[in-house]
Amino acid sequence: MCSVYVYICRLHAIVLNLLFSEVYFCYQEGLLEFRVVECILYIGMNVVQKKKKFNIDLFVETLSAAYEQWQAPIITFIANRGATAFEVLVSTLLSLRTKDEVTCQATVRLFELARTPDQLLALGEQHIARLIYPVGFYPTKAKRLISISRILLDDYAGCVPDTLDDLLKLPGVGRKTANLVLVEGFKKDAICVDTHVHRISNRIGYVSTKTPEQTEFALRDKLPRMYWVSYNELLVAFGQVLCRPVSPFCSKCPVSDMCSGCGVTNTR
Ligand code: SF4
Repeated sequence: MCSVYVYICRLHAIVLNLLFSEVYFCYQEGLLEFRVVECILYIGMNVVQKKKKFNIDLFVETLSAAYEQWQAPIITFIANRGATAFEVLVSTLLSLRTKDEVTCQATVRLFELARTPDQLLALGEQHIARLIYPVGFYPTKAKRLISISRILLDDYAGCVPDTLDDLLKLPGVGRKTANLVLVEGFKKDAICVDTHVHRISNRIGYVSTKTPEQTEFALRDKLPRMYWVSYNELLVAFGQVLCRPVSPFCSKCPVSDMCSGCGVTNTR
């Protein structure tokens, strides 16, 4: 048997793994056989692509520069247009399990008629539900907006409380919503961990956690306080554009040289 092997090794810098594509041309008994053997070898990026040690300052700085070309997350967008803390709270509740475009249109319709707790109460649950349709779980959200408005009027003189503990007492308000209201409604130091922040913080190897709540507490321990307010905004935009949940765009990623790629299997 006569075999001629032409060996071409192509290196792909895909997050943690090195993808070696070995192309063999095998000449056997007069036939040219073409085989592609791909071996995924975890030998660390330092061998072929020099990896930087993860540096949170450089990470935030790099994303901040790239952010100028990205679209602001919906709640940041609404807050930047001068929304009150109450409008931020309402928008955040509407945005849960809802696409940004749908949230945006629903808030415009709702805020044209009601921008305060007493105005929402005056509208009534059914009217609110019609205005916010088709946001996810709109009947439940309409009911909650009524309950929250009543509580704010009865217990907080119509104002949104500016502490995590008080916000968490409101119906339907979890840690993600409460922290986002603190950040976008009050510009207070808080870390809002949504699915993007949880996923990306783990992928890059900055934290190693199982749940968003664990991520929040891990970030509270190690994320420099000056980045708390901007961290969610940056990572949500980054997660929507490049570090997508399934098959992130690692080939276009500005921080790929410091990313550990934890848990990433498919990339573009
Ligand atoms: S896109 Fe995400 S997973 Fe890919 S290199 Fe960038 S940060 Fe890492």
